Amino acid sequence: MVAPGFIAIGSGPAGLAAAETFRRKHPNIPVRILTSDAALPYAKPHLSKSYLRGRHPKLDLHTPSWFMQNGIQLHRGITVDHIDLDEREVVTVAGRRYGYWHLVLAQGSTPVPLALPGAEAALSLRSFADAVVLRMAAKNSDSAVVVGGGLIGCEAATSLAARGVATTMVEAEPVPVQRRFGLEAGERVAKMLSDIGVRFIGMANVAAIDDGQVTLDDGRILESELVAAATGVRPDSRLAAAAGLDIQDGRIVVDGHMHTTVPNVYAAGDVALAFNLTAARRIRSEHWRDATEQGRIAGAVAAGYSATWTTVPEFSCFIGNYTLRYRGWGTDFEAACLEDNRDGFTVTYRSDNRVVGVLTATANRGA
Ligand SMILES: Cc1cc2nc3c(=O)[nH]c(=O)nc-3n(C[C@H](O)[C@H](O)[C@H](O)COP(=O)(O)OP(=O)(O)OC[C@H]3O[C@@H](n4cnc5c(N)ncnc54)[C@H](O)[C@@H]3O)c2cc1C
Repeated sequence: MVAPGFIAIGSGPAGLAAAETFRRKHPNIPVRILTSDAALPYAKPHLSKSYLRGRHPKLDLHTPSWFMQNGIQLHRGITVDHIDLDEREVVTVAGRRYGYWHLVLAQGSTPVPLALPGAEAALSLRSFADAVVLRMAAKNSDSAVVVGGGLIGCEAATSLAARGVATTMVEAEPVPVQRRFGLEAGERVAKMLSDIGVRFIGMANVAAIDDGQVTLDDGRILESELVAAATGVRPDSRLAAAAGLDIQDGRIVVDGHMHTTVPNVYAAGDVALAFNLTAARRIRSEHWRDATEQGRIAGAVAAGYSATWTTVPEFSCFIGNYTLRYRGWGTDFEAACLEDNRDGFTVTYRSDNRVVGVLTATANRGA
């Protein structure tokens, strides 16, 4: 068995930031990232945006030589099967054991699979490998159906339409992003999509996918050369659950310093349900910046330094010809007030008469 040290499971922003931070604090302790992803760590947000449009954004977060120079062992294409908490070991599917002194769980989320006949023909978009396949399919398709009107679905539909693919979005709710942003903002997003040529079909579910045809539950049939499933993600807390860690709403429960209930074991990113000191409660977050921040905190705390999650979650996305920016505590709000302005609109979300989030939509210049 190799010498124990610091291990991050997952090479997304949480695992990477944890390993980088720990390494900066401790130059001599072995630092490893074990990841099932075969690619070098990359910027996921580009995948549904410029990469799917056919452009060439810089995806790699670091070069292979950066990992060597910084003494971080990146083990790619390795899936962890289970964690042996008694022996303080991580065991891979191939049976290899890695001892740890400090362990950060950062397995992120996995797509919620479509459960319907022909679902295996639908392409998902979570990893770089998925994006390569989807981009290639888009290049060779004249028509596409995007199943799901969440943020990733809206971005993917935007990118497909931008490259000239006749795109239809099918969503169970009346408008896209309704659960996240409310009905009124969702109506505006539907308009943003229609303005760039995306056909939106709300209050509909896909019943079957078969040989270039998507059948809806009301019997309508859509011809489509490409079907993309953007039906949401769920945190991948299976390793932690099997090890007996505390899980709530499918996420690993951690405090504001990313400690789990087990000594020297931390969780960060999409898989974690972390306590935010500013909100004074645990917050669900599935955003790049929060995953990076939580990873940093886990790495620093594992290295013996003090760090606490205090930042307000925020993210931006590109839908139609607009940039949407959200800052706030998530989807729980009682009232939403939308105000138009010269460049777009702002929605203020309130709960208990307090502002809990703000969404701004700004038209992109030159679009
Ligand atoms: C297409 C796309 C676009 C996005 N755009 C935005 C955006 O614009 N803004 C934004 O804020 N967020 C965006 N997100 C969300 C953001 O990317 C995630 O919130 C973030 O990546 C979560 O980071 P993470 O480190 O927790 O997990 P992930 O990035 O999901 O990484 C998890 C890692 O764990 C590995 N893993 C899982 N299980 C195992 C195992 N058993 N053994 C070994 N390795 C394992 C995986 O291979 C992966 O490397 C986007 C996501 C996608 C997919």
